[in-house]
Amino acid sequence: MSHMPIENQQQHQLDFGKLTLDNFLEEFNRVEVERLLYTLSSLYDIGEEVTSSESPELRISMGNLLRMLMGTVLCTKAAVLSYAKYKYAMQSIVAKGIDANFYLRLDPKELSRWMELRQPLTLAEVESELPAFFKAHQESLLRYQIQMMVPMVVKDNLVGCILLGDKLDKTTYSATDQILLTMIARQVSMDIYKFSLIEELKQTSDKLRKQKAELVEANLGVQKMSEISMRFISILEENKLFQSILEEMLSSTSATKGVIFKVDHGRDALTMMCCKNTEPFSQRNLLPYRSYEALARTIESGDPHICMVDGGRMWQVEAKYALFVPIHNKNRDDESALVSYVMAVFDKEKRGGGVLTFNERDEAILVSFANYASILIENVRNYELATKDSMTGLYVRRFFDQRLVEQIDKANQVNKVFSLLIMDIDKFKHVNDTFGHPIGDQVIKLVATTIQRNIRTEVDIPSRYGGEEFTILMPEADTERALMVAERIRQAVEVTDVSHLVTGRNITVSIGIATFPAHGSTPKQLMEASDVALYRSKGGGRNRVSIYEDEV
Ligand code: GH3
Ligand code: MG
Ligand code: MG
Repeated sequence: MSHMPIENQQQHQLDFGKLTLDNFLEEFNRVEVERLLYTLSSLYDIGEEVTSSESPELRISMGNLLRMLMGTVLCTKAAVLSYAKYKYAMQSIVAKGIDANFYLRLDPKELSRWMELRQPLTLAEVESELPAFFKAHQESLLRYQIQMMVPMVVKDNLVGCILLGDKLDKTTYSATDQILLTMIARQVSMDIYKFSLIEELKQTSDKLRKQKAELVEANLGVQKMSEISMRFISILEENKLFQSILEEMLSSTSATKGVIFKVDHGRDALTMMCCKNTEPFSQRNLLPYRSYEALARTIESGDPHICMVDGGRMWQVEAKYALFVPIHNKNRDDESALVSYVMAVFDKEKRGGGVLTFNERDEAILVSFANYASILIENVRNYELATKDSMTGLYVRRFFDQRLVEQIDKANQVNKVFSLLIMDIDKFKHVNDTFGHPIGDQVIKLVATTIQRNIRTEVDIPSRYGGEEFTILMPEADTERALMVAERIRQAVEVTDVSHLVTGRNITVSIGIATFPAHGSTPKQLMEASDVALYRSKGGGRNRVSIYEDEV
């Protein structure tokens, strides 16, 4: 059966099966007409009240209606129930003589049938029209001696139903009662419907207000993020950058511990990039992440996850709560490398002691932060690519030349010395010719590693100046100190076991040293002076260190 348009509903509702308008009017006596008029005027009054009130209290107006209804049909038990769409259930709004927590579950399969019922039903009719509903609630319907049920439908929306128990005089509901009930149900259903619309509107505007607040907050976050990234953009060293990112992550979420992991997609494992307030972690350890579900999901889906830490421990981190936020790979060319790092923060600090879990705001902050982080990491990468030799990881010649100019300026200002070393592998053509170019490359890498191990990190500047030539800029080092370092490197290269690469010989280097300002005060003079010293080492039989001497 299709639903009637709204303008036809009134006619439809008066068109009872048992009762035509004609025999209804015939049977009406004066008392009945007065009852009807009374009901109509009360309905009008209550309707007026509900409509004019700015926030209609559904329960109050329903209470009034219920009282009027009970007075009109003279019954002792009645309830108005509203239909909760998402629960498929009828819940009592007001009840008299019936349990106020009356809760009737509907069978979703019968829902369309409910929509078609627009007249009062006797309990027997309920049983035949809504068999599943009757069967499920038979016991409570009988317990409360329910005689009639009036479904309420507005514009194809089931809004609820009215339940009526025994009449005062224990008679059954008359045809007039049924007409009155139909009219009352119509008013009630309109009120409930109106109320539910208002509630829905209220909820929508609450939601909008909340979303607006979140947007404002997120926008503040963006401002903060751009401040941070302005500060971080000058950090060009990877370890320092990750350390700064981690510090900022902790302070912006009040997390007590944190780790940044690098994702090794090939080995399904993580390595620790940097950590704070955890137990000591080795950067070399492979950490298989599959056993931590939320972590695995973060890496696979690329979405952040908040979780409880299984067993209160995750590798070297003892914690209850975790928030994982992925850092996406900026120049990604295959899907598998979606996430390149994971930022993990643990246990939010609770004021007055204890720890808290993270919330959506923390998540939003870190997600936004991760976006900037990926740009900053990319920036460091590009800087490394531009300044470092890919084969040895030492600086390129151009970078070295710039640092030399800078160093002269600096040393001039503060009246300080510094030294410059030039180093060349001895008889290297022989290595290439005898063992091949690839082996030659291995030897170059080995020498570069030896250099790195014997200088001050973050102070001395080593470069691969040419093919198998290296330079080292040693700020604040006088000749004596430079000699010591040069000698240390020379010896270390000499004793390096290279039997897996070359046979019948060792690898050795010759080194020349020049010191500012004694041996030169311009880049050109200093480079030439150290080159002269190197030449002397070569001439003197190689595998030795020489200091530039004026008189030579
Ligand atoms: P000396 O002791 O006088 O330095 O003798 P040498 O044979 O080392 O002479 P020199 O330094 O002039 O030779 C440099 C050689 O290094 C020439 C070149 O073929 C080789 N070479 C330069 N760059 C590379 C490189 O990247 N890889 C390899 N395998 N060989 C290189
Ligand atoms: Mg050379
Ligand atoms: Mg050489």
